[in-house]
Amino acid sequence: MDIIKTDREYVAGTYARAPLVAISGAGAQITDETGKEFIDLGSGIGVNIFGACDEQWVSAVEAQLHRLQHLSNLYYTEPQAALARLLCEKTGMKKVFFGNSGAEANECAIKCARKYSADKYGPGRSAIITLENSFHGRTLATLTATGQEDMHVHFGPFPEGFKYAPANDLAALEALCDGSVCAVMIELVQGEGGVIPLDGAYVGQIARLCADQDILLIADEVQTGNGRTGTLYAYMQYGVSPDIVSTAKGLGGGLPLGCTLLGAKLENTLSAGTHGSTFGGNPVCAAGALSILSRLDEPLFAEIRRQSTYIKAQLEGAEGVKSVTGLGLMLGVDTEKDAKTIAAQCLEKGVIVLTAKNKVRLLPPLNITRKQLEKAIRILKGVIAE
Ligand SMILES: *Cc1c(COP(=O)(O)O)cnc(C)c1O
Repeated sequence: MDIIKTDREYVAGTYARAPLVAISGAGAQITDETGKEFIDLGSGIGVNIFGACDEQWVSAVEAQLHRLQHLSNLYYTEPQAALARLLCEKTGMKKVFFGNSGAEANECAIKCARKYSADKYGPGRSAIITLENSFHGRTLATLTATGQEDMHVHFGPFPEGFKYAPANDLAALEALCDGSVCAVMIELVQGEGGVIPLDGAYVGQIARLCADQDILLIADEVQTGNGRTGTLYAYMQYGVSPDIVSTAKGLGGGLPLGCTLLGAKLENTLSAGTHGSTFGGNPVCAAGALSILSRLDEPLFAEIRRQSTYIKAQLEGAEGVKSVTGLGLMLGVDTEKDAKTIAAQCLEKGVIVLTAKNKVRLLPPLNITRKQLEKAIRILKGVIAE
């Protein structure tokens, strides 16, 4: 079968796919159908957090697969309960809702924020503030939450109750808090928007403003979460305590899993029947996530920060590089050359890189070896300078 031809004929054309037919992988190495090997600096958009087919993750998933694949959330399963406990122990959050994706994690965050406010204050306080250039997902509500005009076409009418503030402008955000707002949702590092970290002081000011007005602070850690930025969650290095944290991507290690972590204020907001998901917290996905989460510890974070420092040192000031932004192993490289051209040329030379807006985006597996990183960065530097 000609995979590319068949895919183009039958799969909806929502992706401008690169010409790579992935067959197998091990760690940060991916092999295509011709046997060509690639070093992966994208990890499936930050999903394969310990790379392809990581042995510990595979055996955790496999063991659960042989036990029970699913029974629905009408019953109890051990992996889901154990994962929820570990997430709460590691974050201090009180409750977890499981879904299957980042968008669903944010949907839950939005619903939960609105219900908290409605329960306490009655109707009329349902608006969510998000930031310009943000990305929160593809469902209608999370697309509306996404602060990018060019994505708000084709699919109207959009749900009401979203307001947008320019990032790093506290006065603009404050002006939107007119009594109609129940939550502020932010990405600590805007990922799809170009790997742009929010200013630390600004994030602290938002947290204070929210606390003063009982507006909930929602951290969308779908991309920044699970060790990616060099701490378990990015908010931990901003010194704030969000009321709600949503995450997905890396949490499942390659299987679909999203979760919404709820802090003390929201501990009892969701009651039976108010929200749900057929697949959410599926025992196989949860067993894999449990194995991953139990390995996200301080020695690993220290290594992530070392690898980050290495990449920055290599690329900052290199020929054709304008700047490097981001935290940990979530980095954006602003280049003189077009980022999409760079990604295509890197692929030809055996290195997978992503793009975000006009930048080259790097989200390597957290356990990429220094040797693999050295080789990949050397190739990337060459392509950028060409
Ligand atoms: C990827 C992403 C989402 C959407 O996640 P899906 O799993 O694709 O639904 C939401 N928010 C952020 C910050 C993301 O990076």
